[in-house]
Amino acid sequence: MEKQGTIIKVSGPLVVAKGMEGARMYEVVRVSEHKLIGEIIGIEDDKASIQVYEETSGVGPGEPVYPTGETMTVELGPGLLQSIYDGIQRPLPLIQKKAGAYITRGIDVPGLDREKKWDLKAVKSTGESVVGGDILGEVEETSLITHKIMVPPTVSGTIKEIKSGAFNIEEVIAVIEDKEGKEHKVTMLQKWPIRNPRPVKKKAVPNRPLVSGTRILDTMFPLAKGGAGCIPGPFGAGKTVTQQTLAKYCDAEIIVYIGCGERGNEMTDVLMEFPELEDPNTGERLMKRTVMVANTSNMPVAAREASIYTGATIAEYFRDMGYSVALMADSTSRWAEALREMSGRLEEMPGEEGYPAYLGSRTAQFYERSGIVKCLGNEDREGSLTLIGAVSPPGGDLSEPVTQNTLRVTKVFWGLDAKLAYKRHFPAINWLTSYTLYTDNIKDYWDKEISPEFSELRTEALGILQEEAKLEEIVRLVGMDALSPKERLILETAKSLREDFLFQNAFDKIDAYTPLKKQYWMLKSIMNVNHVAQKVIEGEDFNFEDLLKLPVMERVTNSKLLGADAEDDYKKLWEDTEREILSLQKA
Ligand code: ADP
Repeated sequence: MEKQGTIIKVSGPLVVAKGMEGARMYEVVRVSEHKLIGEIIGIEDDKASIQVYEETSGVGPGEPVYPTGETMTVELGPGLLQSIYDGIQRPLPLIQKKAGAYITRGIDVPGLDREKKWDLKAVKSTGESVVGGDILGEVEETSLITHKIMVPPTVSGTIKEIKSGAFNIEEVIAVIEDKEGKEHKVTMLQKWPIRNPRPVKKKAVPNRPLVSGTRILDTMFPLAKGGAGCIPGPFGAGKTVTQQTLAKYCDAEIIVYIGCGERGNEMTDVLMEFPELEDPNTGERLMKRTVMVANTSNMPVAAREASIYTGATIAEYFRDMGYSVALMADSTSRWAEALREMSGRLEEMPGEEGYPAYLGSRTAQFYERSGIVKCLGNEDREGSLTLIGAVSPPGGDLSEPVTQNTLRVTKVFWGLDAKLAYKRHFPAINWLTSYTLYTDNIKDYWDKEISPEFSELRTEALGILQEEAKLEEIVRLVGMDALSPKERLILETAKSLREDFLFQNAFDKIDAYTPLKKQYWMLKSIMNVNHVAQKVIEGEDFNFEDLLKLPVMERVTNSKLLGADAEDDYKKLWEDTEREILSLQKA
């Protein structure tokens, strides 16, 4: 910190300093005697524009700026899980302890505990040759997750020394000698610049679903493991509940949850609630496989801008160990607004609705960090990172720039609908506007693991729901009597699909999670009624009321209550459906 610049302008989170020759883009600097943390986001001649991650009030022209020569990095290593960080990886509970409820400025709290000793079991031995990404040892980080200590991506060579035992993250646990004979000391702590995606050997095509147990998501609009999806929705439509349900039930091994507060206390709610959530598979705390990045709304906007990169880097690190990771960002609109505010203060040419012209490319860069990958290293390991971003378009208007730019790069769109939420149809995901582009990719998986008829039933069900929307229009104009028996059956099936299948209460212990196989059985139960009924509805004295009164109809409605392994009960239901409905023919 010998050479220093001088502040010439302060505008909220933006500080401009002169005398900054030699400074680099995205270099971290310390601003004023308070040593506020900032990052260079623009350079012109000897002037640098700095976004400051802390409150800048009281800082003014003439004060110093100290370059650090480092870029914005996150610390990676044991201790990440169960942590709650702010946007630049300062542990929230720790800074609160150190600084009180209101975070004072310029305090240095490292992202990972330096004292704590972790039990490391080496899995390699002296003399073995390794490349970046290879696993050197394992640490039981929590009772749910084994943390793999990897060779840093840039190092390769022969192991000269490797240890097992209890170490803190700064102690040397291995020494690797490279081709040039240079020795690299490896610790359990790695640092990685947040804006650079971590390297992988190869990206593969996502070909398996991320199963969440939410029927409308898994069956109708599935997201692939390693894919990217977005949940746009107006305030109160269920973004947070959907994201949290996903965090709780989806079959990813690691969850990274980035919260950008909507209103003052909302993030505080999430911060209080999340650590209490139970992992339904193990009964343990969900936090044991979760990392949270939280921005309360009283934190400076710049920290919000950084938070999604901090979260993505942590998520990639666990992906590199071979885990399936799901990252939820709620809501990315707050991130985009931070981008807009900084851009405005930089006096850049504004694009649509005041957002910077690079909103699209930044959004794409973020979602491109998703993927199913062959991990770096000589070992044949696969990891995945699935990204799910909520968007909160003002007034629910999906034509606004953040939603549009997100839709361009995500392949799944779960459109939350205020009207459905108002009717208390949950999850309030509109089945007419939502879509997925992953069905072709995961069809093979469905055919093999679920049933060869599953994807056909799904297509048919979606078709019926679309037909319903058209028919409703006719019914509104000329009434039910104008419909043919076939059309009437479509309406009945659609109603059953909506009420018995799509409706799902996230707060009901049994209903909250439906395994994929059971989703298929339920869907088949409903579609089976439709298929069998088609054979009888054209009959002369067929009456819809008779059909609806059949005992099996109630059993179909309640089929969600059958157990997750009740295949035989479902088969019985299908047989009984056939028998009862066909019996109407003779009457
Ligand atoms: P948003 O984040 O979009 O503002 P929330 O996720 O907070 O909206 O949802 C608002 C309310 O809607 C919740 O408090 C809850 O009562 C209800 N809700 C949303 N989704 C569901 C669901 N899947 N099951 C039951 N209730 C839901």
